[in-house]
Amino acid sequence: MKSYAQPIKRLISELAKLPGIGEKTAARLANYILRATPGDVEKLAESLVEVKRKIHLCRICQNPTEEDICPICSDPGRDRHVICVVEEPDALAAIEESGVFHGTYHVLHGALAPLDGIGPDNLKLSELQKRVSEGRISELILATNPNVQGDATALLITRMFKDSGISMTRIATGVPMGGDLKYIDKMTLSKSLEFRRGM
Ligand code: ZN
Repeated sequence: MKSYAQPIKRLISELAKLPGIGEKTAARLANYILRATPGDVEKLAESLVEVKRKIHLCRICQNPTEEDICPICSDPGRDRHVICVVEEPDALAAIEESGVFHGTYHVLHGALAPLDGIGPDNLKLSELQKRVSEGRISELILATNPNVQGDATALLITRMFKDSGISMTRIATGVPMGGDLKYIDKMTLSKSLEFRRGM
C-alpha cells in the first residue's frame, strides 16, 4: 500500500472492509474506479448513499424494504400462518427465487456466534416473539444455515417456543440437486445420511 497516493489508500482500506474483499481485491476495485468515467463513479457513490437513505427494515419481517411493510408481508396471497425464519436477506431472496414457498418470512440478521460476540440479543428474536405472541402462527420453518451457528440458532428458537403449540420444522440438509457426492464436504454428507428419509 506504501506506493499508493493517500486518497487511493483510503479507498482501498474502505473497500477492504466489505465482506469477502481482501486487500488485493480492494486494490483491483480501486484501480477499476480510477479508470471509470466520473459519471459512472458518481452513480456508484449515489447508489450507496441512496440505499442507506431509502431502505429500512420491514416492521413485520425485518427484511430490508422501501415501505413500512414489505411487499411480501403486505401480499394478501401469502400464508401468514407459516413463517420461514432465515439468517440473512440473501437466504430469503434464494428461497423466493425457488418459488416453492408461499408463507411469510422472518429475517434474524445473523446467527448465534458466541465466539464473535453475537448472542440472542443481537438477533431479531424479540420481533419474532412479538409476532408469535400476536397469535395465528401455525408453523415456524427454521431455515437457518446448515452449520454450527445455524443449528445453534434453530435450537434456541425451538426452546423459545416449545410451549407455544406451534409446529417447528428444520429444513433438510443434504446433497444439493445436481451435486456429486464426491464433491460434497464431509459434514454435509454425514448430515444428509443422518437425516435420510424413507422412499
Ligand atoms: Zn416484511
